[in-house]
Amino acid sequence: MNGQDLLNRLKEDKIENLWVTYHDYNGRACAKTIPKSRFAEVVEGGVVFARANLNFGIDDHMAADGIWQAQTGDFLALPDPDAYWKLPYLDKTAIALCNMLTEEYQPFDGCPRQILRRTLSLFAERDMAITAALEAEFSLFAKTDDGDVTPCRAGGMFTLAGLNQFADFLQDIVATLEAMGIQVEQMGKEYGASQFEFSVRYDAPLAAADRYLISKEVTRALALQRGLIASYMPKPFTDLAGNGLHANLGLWDRRAGGNLLAGGGADNPLSEIGRQFVGGLLAHAPGLCGLGAPTVNSYKRLQPASWAPAHIAWGLGNRGVLLRVPDGNKRCRVEYRAGDNTCNPYFFLTALLAAGWDGLRKKADPGAPFNDEDVGHFSAAESGARGIRFLPRSLPAALDALEKDEILMSALAPVAGREFLKVKRLELETYNLTVHPWERQMYLEAP
Ligand code: GLU
Ligand code: MG
Repeated sequence: MNGQDLLNRLKEDKIENLWVTYHDYNGRACAKTIPKSRFAEVVEGGVVFARANLNFGIDDHMAADGIWQAQTGDFLALPDPDAYWKLPYLDKTAIALCNMLTEEYQPFDGCPRQILRRTLSLFAERDMAITAALEAEFSLFAKTDDGDVTPCRAGGMFTLAGLNQFADFLQDIVATLEAMGIQVEQMGKEYGASQFEFSVRYDAPLAAADRYLISKEVTRALALQRGLIASYMPKPFTDLAGNGLHANLGLWDRRAGGNLLAGGGADNPLSEIGRQFVGGLLAHAPGLCGLGAPTVNSYKRLQPASWAPAHIAWGLGNRGVLLRVPDGNKRCRVEYRAGDNTCNPYFFLTALLAAGWDGLRKKADPGAPFNDEDVGHFSAAESGARGIRFLPRSLPAALDALEKDEILMSALAPVAGREFLKVKRLELETYNLTVHPWERQMYLEAP
């Protein structure tokens, strides 16, 4: 679609409000709503936002050392005609995701979607195509009278009872997304009390990230309509299962169409390229956490023996490892399990692909898979003896690992990686300066 097609669609869909939207470095959807009278102008020239917005943390405080400040001008958010959706649950309203441009209408270095495109072009130049599918878990909460939240404890894991209890909500999500042209592959009551999961059909990475973000907004909006909260927090309660964002990646021959990851035998379905790709992801695993699991809360999820990975290992069909190769030769793909929904998915996918690419370049060796053991139960000593490293155990460790990872930082160069670190370190500083309820519980009358 081009700009004129988008204008035609807006007219056909009888839209009067267009939410011109970008995702900031916290992964937050940021938008302005534009009235019909300005559609033509905005589809051609974009909407102005301050560059400084990108140096703000999730609590709306600005990183003092950020390069974008009050005086550094604007970027233009230009609606991408291929990332337009009419919102069926709102009257005459649509959303468009944007590419960021400079005021001179040039690509803007800080634009997350642009950064993902750049890494994808590396693969395209070698006639490789990537597919991605993002599987998101979320928890459903109800508000309590005292302003707190309580988990909607829908039936046991994968039970029909769980589906039944929230059938109207879950089916509304699927139907709404289908009406928007987003195909939900499946939706289930997950392992945790109050936890659900949906997966959207695989697509090219940019479209997969766009559709995932839209789906997340739809689940939230439809939950809100019912007075509920769909929370994507990685570990919302100590005793509840964590919410992950599993990234499934496929690598294809663009000309012949073959699966480049597949090729080995039944007990080793990865091709040599597949092994190298996995080797790259393992080598960059510490830095990847900085982008895929970028909050302090993320590390309360990435705990041993939780099915969220804590160890850097891979295996076939093994849910205890960081990288699972689920499907054998037929639909051979790689599932990276450490990410969560607090990421900016454009950065996250960029980093995963840059790591995989580096693996191809360096012919990385992933070592032997762990197929028959749950590495999540390995002690530190056992892990050490088997040569398995741990993922970073905290946000500061993950951000330091990212900063040291030249491949990942250069995939986000020249500015986005550095500014991302500043925003996240500001968040960390706030956390460190906050007295948490646990501290009063432990220390109020002690020692
Ligand atoms: N909830 C687990 C996580 O946080 C994943 C469970 C699963 O789907 O395998 O990653
Ligand atoms: Mg799951």
